[in-house]
Amino acid sequence: MQYEGYLPEPCLLLPEQITEYPHPSVLSPDILSMLDDWVRWEAAGDAADSRYASYPAEFYGVNLSVAPGWKVGGWASWGLTDPIPQSCPACNTEMNPLLTIPSHEWGSSDRNWIPFELQELLIPTRGGEPRPDQPTAIQIGRGYRQQLNVCPASPEHPHTELMQYTPQQQPHVV
Ligand SMILES: [Zn+2]
Repeated sequence: MQYEGYLPEPCLLLPEQITEYPHPSVLSPDILSMLDDWVRWEAAGDAADSRYASYPAEFYGVNLSVAPGWKVGGWASWGLTDPIPQSCPACNTEMNPLLTIPSHEWGSSDRNWIPFELQELLIPTRGGEPRPDQPTAIQIGRGYRQQLNVCPASPEHPHTELMQYTPQQQPHVV
């Protein structure tokens, strides 16, 4: 093990299937323009949070795009760098995200991604107490997320890794 923070604490695995959409930085200008039009979001009724009416694009980025937390599959998170093609070193095929290992399950603006049963546990914590947003206690650098990529052409081809930043590091406190 390279660093002590890479050793996970024993904890329960409670997988759930979710839908997430691509990071805004990989979308076309036309799609971004539509996401920035609140009138379109209003067609979703109560599902669209009206607090975002002045910032429609942020509604997409915060609530629908690239879920925080550990995940299999999904979309890559960007922000530390602009999007960079992730090509297989063996055959040059565009690689797919396989496993994402973040330092935190969620950040302060990710409330909609927190499982309902865990939202009840979001109480202020003191030093040394377990944090619901860090059940594994894994720390990637200073709050980064590590993504391992797999080649869709062949699982025998070497995996690659992508390190990105997790923007919000503080647990949401109710
Ligand atoms: Zn390949």
